[in-house]
Amino acid sequence: MEEVTFRIAPEEKVKKKPSFLKPWFGLKYLFKKPVTIKIPYEFIEPAPRYRGFHTLDWKKCIGCNMCGQICPARAIEMTWIEGEKRPHPKIDYGRCTFCQFCVDVCPTGALGFIETYMLTTTWREEELLLYDWVPIEPEKFKEIQEKFKDYKFPVEKIEFNKETKEVTYYLRDGTTFKFKILGYGLKPPVKPQPTTKQQEEEKKESGQ
Ligand code: SF4
Ligand code: SF4
Repeated sequence: MEEVTFRIAPEEKVKKKPSFLKPWFGLKYLFKKPVTIKIPYEFIEPAPRYRGFHTLDWKKCIGCNMCGQICPARAIEMTWIEGEKRPHPKIDYGRCTFCQFCVDVCPTGALGFIETYMLTTTWREEELLLYDWVPIEPEKFKEIQEKFKDYKFPVEKIEFNKETKEVTYYLRDGTTFKFKILGYGLKPPVKPQPTTKQQEEEKKESGQ
């Protein structure tokens, strides 16, 4: 086998000589147009099929959790929602790397993505429930993007009622989207058994 030799540059070639003039060269950038943009007031047009936020067709989702299994960032948790026979994925945008493996693996094409990419908010920390996102229908998401054309997240505000577990998405077009979370995980949540007091009250109400 042929022996490979590595040549390493000598230290004196790598080491830069101190210069008193070079720092002043940076002044030329004062007169150039900035390459950065003022988010959220400006935006860059994304490439077609840019991998932005997720959409979910609730009717197509069969709750198989293949999206959750493939997710390298462990950003997906299955969520049981009142009125839905199967759990749906909830995405933690604090962890998601937008690789879209979950979209590629989805066997029914329920999970998708849209070019919308801008996630900025002036909300207070306790309002940042946005980072736990149960994606909305693709048609609604597209409608909002086409209306505003600014690639911003489609929700103005999210409310989560800790007692009733009801989530309200206040969408940017003035509509609201409500759903009630029953629990998390692959198995259906166990219904809490009524206490003796509740049973007695129910009996009284039914007149038994
Ligand atoms: S979004 Fe797709 S992969 Fe994920 S649970 Fe639903 S059907 Fe399965
Ligand atoms: S885009 Fe990638 S990181 Fe984000 S939820 Fe899907 S699989 Fe996980």
